[in-house]
Amino acid sequence: MREVAIVSRKFAVENSHTLSVAQAHGAYKTLEKLHTLAPLEIIEIIKESGLRGKGGGGAPAGAKWALMPQESERPSFVVINCDESEPGTFKDRQIITKDPHLLIEGILITCYAVKAKHAYVYIRGEYAQYQDVLQGAVDEAYVAGILGEVDVTLHRGAGAYICGEKSALLESLEGKRGHPRLKPKQPEPEWYFGNPTLVNNVETIASVPFIMEHGAAAYRAYGTEKSPGTLLFAMSGHVEKPGVYEAEFGVSMMDYINHYGGGMKNGKKLKAVIPGGASTGVMTAAEADNVQLDYESLRSMGLSLGTGGMIVMDEDTCMVSVLKNLLEFYHEESCGQCTPCREGTGWVDKLVGKILDKRGSSEDIDKLLEVAETMNGKTICVFAPAVSAVIVSFLSRFRDEFEAAL
Ligand code: SF4
Repeated sequence: MREVAIVSRKFAVENSHTLSVAQAHGAYKTLEKLHTLAPLEIIEIIKESGLRGKGGGGAPAGAKWALMPQESERPSFVVINCDESEPGTFKDRQIITKDPHLLIEGILITCYAVKAKHAYVYIRGEYAQYQDVLQGAVDEAYVAGILGEVDVTLHRGAGAYICGEKSALLESLEGKRGHPRLKPKQPEPEWYFGNPTLVNNVETIASVPFIMEHGAAAYRAYGTEKSPGTLLFAMSGHVEKPGVYEAEFGVSMMDYINHYGGGMKNGKKLKAVIPGGASTGVMTAAEADNVQLDYESLRSMGLSLGTGGMIVMDEDTCMVSVLKNLLEFYHEESCGQCTPCREGTGWVDKLVGKILDKRGSSEDIDKLLEVAETMNGKTICVFAPAVSAVIVSFLSRFRDEFEAAL
């Protein structure tokens, strides 16, 4: 497997969160050539690189940047989504603690390209200790005059999963409840207090300095044609060496698990993998044997690559119990705006609880699928459809376990 380090290149360097060490390893070098390029030229480079959002959706980053107005009477903003709450996902915290200056460098390039003077980093509420490291790096960059005209403000969330959804994040940043907004019919920027705003995930922005330094083609040299570059895959569960390891898109899932994860823990057999964070569905061991880690391959299976937060489960895992665990989480985290989600997540949680407690009947399995169907496509945000897809993925692959538990 080809080793690659686009965002993780300083992770093994001691004290790389400090400015002096980061600069000794090349931090902020791209800023020297930044002003030799026009903002639109930078957006073109990002488009050419094929960089895709690494917070779960995988949307083309350059197209999103191009939605931002170059001329506007209102100020533009950049918001970095560090509300890393998806179960199984813990990659962004590696960046903000091990190489925060890479993120700040990416923020400065992004602000220049979309003509923003103020960037916010919205940090997950539970990441208080990691926020301190990032704040220290921002402070050092301020004092050294690196930030120039740009202000960088860290904003800590209050621990709501749904604030990782970008419009809910912006509501929260505006001081309101973190409720997702209705989607516009046409693509447009996000809005922060009515001002055009670009929202991108931490890893997406941390990938920008490499592209600026080495060019779009260098980034495209990794990965696949449609999923170029790399991702910090976070691996947890029953592997020998869980952790966060960068790999190029398109590598085989089993090669990744064996190479970086050291294979299955205690020599057990693989049973299932959640490929990209809890909301991306589940696959069987046979499917995992044949899949590549890129957006298109996962989509063709009805699943999603999500954030790349892989949860590996061995032969002793009870799949009914795993689904129960996930549904408890979703019921707790539904923001409550939409009835199919607010009520549906509670129903499905209770139904799976009944099956797990051996009080269920085959009608409960049918009812579970019926409620899942009702939750799909009728809500403000994709939370409820994702829960629905998770239920369907478990039942279509492991129905025999649910039936055996009746
Ligand atoms: Fe809130 Fe769920 Fe509706 Fe999303 S789908 S807006 S999380 S109630």
